[in-house]
Amino acid sequence: MKNSMVSEENIDLTLTLSLGPAPPVSHPPTHPPETNLSVMDMSMLFPDPNPNPLFASSSNNNNITNLSLVSSSSIDTDNPPNADEDISTAAPSTHRYRRRPSNRRSRGEDETIPPPFPWATDRQATIHCRQYLLENNICTITGTVHCRTCEQEFQLSLDLEEKAAELRRFIQRRKDRMHDRAPAAWLNPVFPKCALCGQENSIRPVIAEDKKQINWLFLLLGQMLGCCTLDHLKHFCKFNGSHRTGAKDRLLYLTYMKLAEQLQPQWFDS
Ligand SMILES: [Zn+2]
Repeated sequence: MKNSMVSEENIDLTLTLSLGPAPPVSHPPTHPPETNLSVMDMSMLFPDPNPNPLFASSSNNNNITNLSLVSSSSIDTDNPPNADEDISTAAPSTHRYRRRPSNRRSRGEDETIPPPFPWATDRQATIHCRQYLLENNICTITGTVHCRTCEQEFQLSLDLEEKAAELRRFIQRRKDRMHDRAPAAWLNPVFPKCALCGQENSIRPVIAEDKKQINWLFLLLGQMLGCCTLDHLKHFCKFNGSHRTGAKDRLLYLTYMKLAEQLQPQWFDS
């Protein structure tokens, strides 16, 4: 940043000299530049120019054109007050964006992201409610699965209303006996038959490495959240107001219940 400012001063000094009557060529580089500033308006613009070793060599250049004078005078009026801002704006954008998440990471839920799916919101680990999905004709939830038998990867489609009703019935039936822990059916789910090779219980959801891209609603409706690692579940809980650590069955239960609540807030009010 300092280097950029110095070079701008060099340009300005060069232009100042070009206005002078006969710029002395033989001055040593360390000579104070004030002696060369014979034009009053330019010396007012630069009341205290810094001595610069490059100054002497600049003074040798007598061929500065009016064009560069005009552009430099516009720089003169614009640059000094904004110099720092201009430079920081010109800095690589990654620098600016890198700072933003780190500032917000402590607050977690404040950070917005591009929604990874039409059924996901711009908040991490947050899905749209069922009413929003139906109103926007989002009735089929798809996700990527991988078959352990035929090794194929493909999209599996889940019917929102059918799977939501299954989930609701399951939770209503079992909730009182769960004691805040995921039941075996959630911890070790039985997976749908592979559509390609027909093998039972062979497909697994492909869970994105980037946690922002996790297909939470697909995992919920397929009741496949059990495939999440402890790390995935902690991530979800963190962005949903619970920084709790614990055994997988507790975090899995919490994740199921929070997601079900996001999908249909009134389901389990009692
Ligand atoms: Zn298969």
